[in-house]
Amino acid sequence: MPVDTKPIILTGDRTTGPLHLGHYAGSLKNRVALQDSHRQFLLLADAQALTDHAHDPAKVRRNVLEVALDYLAVGIDPAKTTICVQSCLPALAELTTLYMNFVTVARLERNPTIKDEIQARGFGRDIPAGFLCYPVAQAADITAFKATVVPVGEDQLPLIEQTNEIVRRLNHQIGRDVLPEARALIAPVGRLLGVDGKAKMSKSHGNAIALSAAPEAIRDAVRRMYTDPNHLRAADPGSVEGNVVFTYLEAFDEDREAVVALKAHYRRGGLGDVAVKRRLDDILQALLAPIRERRAALARDPGHVLRVLRAGTLEARERTQATLDEIRHALGLFTFDR
Ligand code: ATP
Ligand code: MG
Repeated sequence: MPVDTKPIILTGDRTTGPLHLGHYAGSLKNRVALQDSHRQFLLLADAQALTDHAHDPAKVRRNVLEVALDYLAVGIDPAKTTICVQSCLPALAELTTLYMNFVTVARLERNPTIKDEIQARGFGRDIPAGFLCYPVAQAADITAFKATVVPVGEDQLPLIEQTNEIVRRLNHQIGRDVLPEARALIAPVGRLLGVDGKAKMSKSHGNAIALSAAPEAIRDAVRRMYTDPNHLRAADPGSVEGNVVFTYLEAFDEDREAVVALKAHYRRGGLGDVAVKRRLDDILQALLAPIRERRAALARDPGHVLRVLRAGTLEARERTQATLDEIRHALGLFTFDR
């Protein structure tokens, strides 16, 4: 397919820490698979990261490079995918300001993902306005690239819905479909649990296995993984529901039949936690070793990575500015004659 007729993808990650297995299963794997058939843009979402990290801009800045390294290490190819830095794209901020007028505060407060995140961050009533409004900024991100496909984890569904509501309101105001609606592309593992089994794996929850984790860190995380607390002896029947080790085998063990057999054996009794954990450790070590090695090699040449980001950001700047111009024009905003 010629480049400009391929469907457009926009997705990205907050630069709050190195990426983890949840990102890999929930989104990165899809992105690597789709970069040939789609025109793909990846956003290093540092501006969005600031909405709950205003106290630590250094962390947000440092992780721009870390997340970029993760992208390249898992197989994102800059010749096919454009990687760009959100805060260096001023058109996104301008679109956000415009879009704020097409959404109500009540609607933002109703967003279930935002509600959960507000609770998880313990904001109480002291919610940064930027945080409450980040779904609007995300609508700006997606629409500025005219993306129609957004590969994301399940937690993002309410945000895509919010984007499409803004798109419809704006198109209605303008009287024609200037912006396309987008659809979320959810991977089979749309929400990977953290190693504690309590919440989704997340950089903010301290329950993640980073893609860059050292072999000992992986082993240690697997050893500490939550299983069935009533499965005291290997001979006892065990439960696989809510058992994190099995959740991870479902997500990462390519041998589906073996997983079915293991589950049956565990339920029946006679299969110890140590044996299942050993299998999972082997699988995760094999998955992450090549990623870790490629990442280490790339990290030795940060100049190369920065050149990739600069080129991607310049290209994205033109594209997002073109959309902003189009929206300004379509809305009939004041403009000086050229
Ligand atoms: P933070 O804790 O800073 O919010 P995060 O770990 O939630 O970080 P994000 O940058 O918010 O990661 O999410 C980036 C993308 O990865 C989103 O599409 C999100 O849905 C997906 N994702 C994140 N965590 C998981 C997970 N545990 N399972 C599946 N997808 C995930
Ligand atoms: Mg998140």
